[in-house]
Amino acid sequence: MTRYAKKGNHGKKGKRKELKMNRRSKDLDEIDQDLESQNAEKLLNQSLDIEVAGGAQHYCLHCARYFIDDHALQAHFRTKVHKRRLKALETEPYTVQEAEAAAGIGTYIAPKKRKMSTQKCKE
Ligand SMILES: [Zn+2]
Repeated sequence: MTRYAKKGNHGKKGKRKELKMNRRSKDLDEIDQDLESQNAEKLLNQSLDIEVAGGAQHYCLHCARYFIDDHALQAHFRTKVHKRRLKALETEPYTVQEAEAAAGIGTYIAPKKRKMSTQKCKE
């Protein structure tokens, strides 16, 4: 052991944070845009991409995640993570008008609730 043996421990926290950042997926408002039918269509019919899991053929729109196969995707639809995400997406993202309203200009309009359901499966 050299006297520098322990050096690796420093900055460990930073490394962990870096990993977390890499794993970070899309924000809810980005996903909201993905849910627009024309975007959704594109995301669900992606061309084969060997860089991502499953060749980008099994994608969960709501969680912005790729799965290795249809089985994994179906299993994911039943998970707590996915259901929680649907719940979160039921509230429409803030618009500029709402932000202004909340700041005291005009009246505050509560974000609308909407029905959110798991994407249709490919046949
Ligand atoms: Zn999901």
